[in-house]
Amino acid sequence: MNTEINDLAKILQNSNNIVFFGGAGVSTESGIPDFRSADGLYNSSYSYPPETMLSRSFFDTHTEEFYRFYKDKMLHPNAKPNKAHLALAELEKQNKLKAVITQNVDGLHTSAGSVNVLELHGSILRNYCMLCNEAYPLDKIILSLGIPQCLCGGIIKPDVVLYEEGLDQSVMKKAVRAITTAEVLIVGGTSLNVYPAAGMINYFSGENLILINKSKTAYDKYADIIINENIGKALFEAVNKF
Ligand code: NAD
Repeated sequence: MNTEINDLAKILQNSNNIVFFGGAGVSTESGIPDFRSADGLYNSSYSYPPETMLSRSFFDTHTEEFYRFYKDKMLHPNAKPNKAHLALAELEKQNKLKAVITQNVDGLHTSAGSVNVLELHGSILRNYCMLCNEAYPLDKIILSLGIPQCLCGGIIKPDVVLYEEGLDQSVMKKAVRAITTAEVLIVGGTSLNVYPAAGMINYFSGENLILINKSKTAYDKYADIIINENIGKALFEAVNKF
């Protein structure tokens, strides 16, 4: 494992055009469960799978149940950035990392200090009235009993891309541009099962593809370096070697 971390450190040291693409595994070390690990949400005891409960049709037809699951499982207001978020913010500060592209909705990359963060699936921190578009902070969702409602009477919806909804085209475009022009792409903490986000890494044609994930992914065969390790430990160690 040390060899891979050393190799990663050398690649990071020698590049100033690195892009990171990540998913739920980046935040598990902050105490936020992912979907597909043994203690992930897929193995929790809800009557529907997360992909159903987090779908737009479920939101529209079972709004109260949606919010029960969402508040119980998706909101972690006390979670703090971990070593992975902090190492990536540090790489951006050193002008090496050009963008963090994340499937996460927890806002932890920004809390860690990353600036160019492309949130493919939106953010739990932003919420809007579906009628009048009034913006609400996360607290409004947390403190509401039942379905969060706007003063105008409209239902408030999180600015999170639900299954069956399309991705924001301008965020997508920026992410594709960043991946297409990157020299080094680090993909971490994602099972690469959720499309179209996962397919975006196919745009990479740079020098080094690095995969950091606890379990195997379908993209392992394309990687120059594979690190099956906690991403916080791996990134933190690599960044602190130079
Ligand atoms: P996923 O659950 O499908 O996969 C997570 C992957 O991360 C797994 O392969 C697992 O082995 C790996 N992993 C877990 N902890 C790790 C660690 N500490 N270090 C390295 N690897 C680790 O997640 P996904 O691919 O992101 O897809 C799930 C979808 O649900 C995404 O849209 C995601 O944004 C969303 N989601 C978001 C959050 C969040 O915002 N924190 C949490 C759960 C799910």
